[in-house]
Amino acid sequence: MTVNFIIAAAFFIATLLFIYGLKRMASPVTAPSGIRVAGWGMVLAVAASFLYAFDVREAAADNLGMNLFLALVALGIGVGWAWRSGKKVAMTGMPQMVALYNGMGGGAAAAIAAVELYSGNAQHYGFAVTVLALLGGLIGAVALSGSIVAWAKLDGRLNKTIRFGAQQLVNGGLLAFAVLLSIYVLAVGDGGTPDMAITLFFLVSLVLGILLTTPIGGADMPVVISLYNAFTGLAVAFEGFVLQNPAMIIAGTVVGSAGTLLTFLMAKAMNRSVSNVIFSNFGAEDDGGSDIEGSMKSVEASDAAINMYYGSRVIIVPGYGLAVAQAQHKLYEFVKLLQKQGVDVSFAIHPVAGRMPGHMNVLLAEAGIPYDIIHDLEDINEEFPLADAALVIGANDVVNPAARSNTSSPIYGMPILNVDQAQQAFVVKRGQGKGYSGVENELFFADNTSMVYGDAQKVMVEMIEAIKSLG
Ligand code: NDP
Repeated sequence: MTVNFIIAAAFFIATLLFIYGLKRMASPVTAPSGIRVAGWGMVLAVAASFLYAFDVREAAADNLGMNLFLALVALGIGVGWAWRSGKKVAMTGMPQMVALYNGMGGGAAAAIAAVELYSGNAQHYGFAVTVLALLGGLIGAVALSGSIVAWAKLDGRLNKTIRFGAQQLVNGGLLAFAVLLSIYVLAVGDGGTPDMAITLFFLVSLVLGILLTTPIGGADMPVVISLYNAFTGLAVAFEGFVLQNPAMIIAGTVVGSAGTLLTFLMAKAMNRSVSNVIFSNFGAEDDGGSDIEGSMKSVEASDAAINMYYGSRVIIVPGYGLAVAQAQHKLYEFVKLLQKQGVDVSFAIHPVAGRMPGHMNVLLAEAGIPYDIIHDLEDINEEFPLADAALVIGANDVVNPAARSNTSSPIYGMPILNVDQAQQAFVVKRGQGKGYSGVENELFFADNTSMVYGDAQKVMVEMIEAIKSLG
C-alpha cells in the first residue's frame, strides 16, 4: 500500500465524516454527535496531511525535519489555545469566537496562497493554478482582516462605525488594484514575479477587508461573520485545488455553501437583502424615540407567575436577554412547576432570536428543556390567540408588532411572533432598553401587556418562589 493511497483513503473517509457530521447537525437532538463526527473527520484530515512529509518534492525534503517541527509547534499552539478558549467561552461570546476562528481559516488559505505565489510554484503549474491561488489569496485575506474587525466590534473593543465619504469608491478602487496586480502576476507567469507585487497584492486585500467591515454597524456583525465564513470556505477550496488536496476542496466547498445559505437565511429572517446588511448602517443608531400611544404598565414577578399558574396555556418567547442573564435553568424550573399544575407550556422560537442562528435552541437544550415543547415560528404563530398568557423573556425585536403594521419601521416586513394576539403578555426585561434594531416596541405599550422589570435570572427566581409559596 503506497503512502499516496493511504492519504487518498484517509481524505475520502474524512470527507464522509464531514458530510455525515453536517447532516447530523440539522437537528438539535443529533447535533452534538454531528459535531464530534465532523471533528474526527478533521483530525483524520490533519493527520493524513502529515503523511505528505513522506512524499514531498526534493526542495522541501531538505528542510523536512525543521518543517515537521514547525508544523507540530503550530498545531500544539492552535490546539491548546482553541481547547482553552472553547472551554471557557460564554454562550453570549460565541459569535465573536466564531468570527476569530473563521478569520484564521481565511488567513490560513491566504498564507497557502502566499507560499505558493512567492515560491513561484503556482506560476510554475500554469495559468489556472495561479488564478486559483490569487482568488483564494484575495478572498482569504479579506476574510481574515474583515473577521478581525467583526470580532473587535462584537467584543466591544471597537465601538466606532468608521465611515468616510466615497468609501464605496475607495473600496472599488482597492478591488480594481488587486485585480490589476493579479493580472500582472499572471502576465509575468513562470518568469519570476517580483516579491513586491505579491506583497502589495496581499496588503491591498487586507486593507479591503478592513474598509469593507468598519462601516457596518456592530448589530449586523453576525450576518457579516456568516458571509466571511462563506468566503473562508471558498478560499480554502481554491487553495485545495492549488495543493491538489481533496479534503480541502470538499471541506471548503461545504463551508462555502453552508455559509452562503446561512447568510441568505439570516437576511431573509430579518426581511433584508445581504447588500442592505453590508452597505447600510442598520441598528448602529437609535431611531430617536417614538410616537407610540399608551403607557407601559408593570407588575410584580410574583403576580405574573401566579397568573400563569392558574392559566391553561402559556407560550414562552425567549430572546437575547435570556442568554445575557443565563436564566435558562431557572426558566425550566419554573416551566416544570407550571406543568406540574397541568398548564400546557410551549416555547416559540424566532429564527433570529438571540445573536446567532440557533442561539435559543442551544440555550434551551443546555437547560435540558425537551425538544417536543419547542416550536418554530411558522408552527406556533397561529396559536397565540389560544394562549392565556405569553411570557416574553429577554426578547424585543422578534415580538415587535411594528414589523407587521408600521411601513416606516426599519424592521417592517420581518416575520414576528404574534405575542400581541395572546390574551395577556408578560414581558421580562431590565428596563426601557431597546432591542438590537434600536426601535421602540409597540407591544410594551399594549393594553394586554404587563412589564416585569428586572434581570431575567432574578425575575425567574422570584416567580419560582411565588409558585412554591402557594404550597
Ligand atoms: P433584542 O436584542 O431585540 O432584545 C433583547 C432584549 O433583552 C433587550 O431589549 C434588553 O432590554 C433585554 N435584556 C438584555 N439583558 C437582559 C437581562 N439580563 N435580563 C432581562 N432582559 C435583558 O433580542 P431578540 O432576541 O428579540 O432579537 C434578536 C435581534 O437580533 C433581532 O433584531 C435580530 O434581527 C438580530 N440578529 C439576530 C441574529 C441571529 O442570528 N439570531 C443575527 C443578527 C442579528 P433591557 O436592556 O431593558 O433589559
